[in-house]
Amino acid sequence: MPKEQFREADVIKKISHVQFCISSPEEIQQESHLRIVSKNLYQGQRQPVPYGVLDKRMGVSTKDATCDTCGQGLNECIGHFGYLDLALPVFHIGHFRATISILQMICKSCSHVMLREPDKRAYEKKLLNPNLSYLAKKALHGQILTKAKKQAKCPDCEAPNGGVKKGPGLLKI
Ligand SMILES: [Zn+2]
Ligand SMILES: [Zn+2]
Repeated sequence: MPKEQFREADVIKKISHVQFCISSPEEIQQESHLRIVSKNLYQGQRQPVPYGVLDKRMGVSTKDATCDTCGQGLNECIGHFGYLDLALPVFHIGHFRATISILQMICKSCSHVMLREPDKRAYEKKLLNPNLSYLAKKALHGQILTKAKKQAKCPDCEAPNGGVKKGPGLLKI
């Protein structure tokens, strides 16, 4: 018999919303198989260093090796998480551009979006349209960013709008 995908329940529940978020450091640790502490990748004959980012307990990347956690090969192993503790907070490289645009759109004192109330309402109405395509949404975000960046001071608290730029060096704002 095939595996049951879902089971009908007696109680009907209406889901009001689904929320996505980034895992907390504690959750990442709980989901992980090992803590990465070595900065080196290889030792000796190109063997992955234990507790390095290539440790085979997180899965393998070559056809002839097997995973040290589940014993499966490259095609079967689903991969297993590891985590490393950072000494200082850093911007996530995958969210770097989004972080900059958000900072350019909001007030650095009160965190409101730097748009006047009628503009805010108009954009909100457009963005809440469920049939909006990805490209149309992206274009609207672009328009909001351009408008918000031009504000000399915050329409809410009147704090001056400071510029936000990518800094010199890697991942600095
Ligand atoms: Zn595995
Ligand atoms: Zn403000």
